[in-house]
Amino acid sequence: MADRALRGMRLGTQSMESVHSAELAERVEVHYDCPNGHHIAMPFSVEADVPLSWECQCGALALLRDGDKPEAKDIKPQRTHWDMLLERRSIPELEELLAERLEVLRASRR
Ligand SMILES: [Zn+2]
Repeated sequence: MADRALRGMRLGTQSMESVHSAELAERVEVHYDCPNGHHIAMPFSVEADVPLSWECQCGALALLRDGDKPEAKDIKPQRTHWDMLLERRSIPELEELLAERLEVLRASRR
């Protein structure tokens, strides 16, 4: 796996493929919270399936801390064109634009 990452880096950063494989070789620190107050930080490859729980040194089952899941970094909620539009324009602005466009359309048909 290290081999693949190195080869990907040497090929340059221009291709999407190499950028992607370099990212896959990254490591993330995953945090677990033990019910007895212990804290565990485990380095995982972002490629790895991170277990939802980890056995603590005290024998209790420490649970994956929410928000630190590596998947949360990679999986973005699917954004629609409408969502992206809403990030740039407010509804009143869009209504105004729509009214303008409709006016242009109507004027051209007259
Ligand atoms: Zn513990």
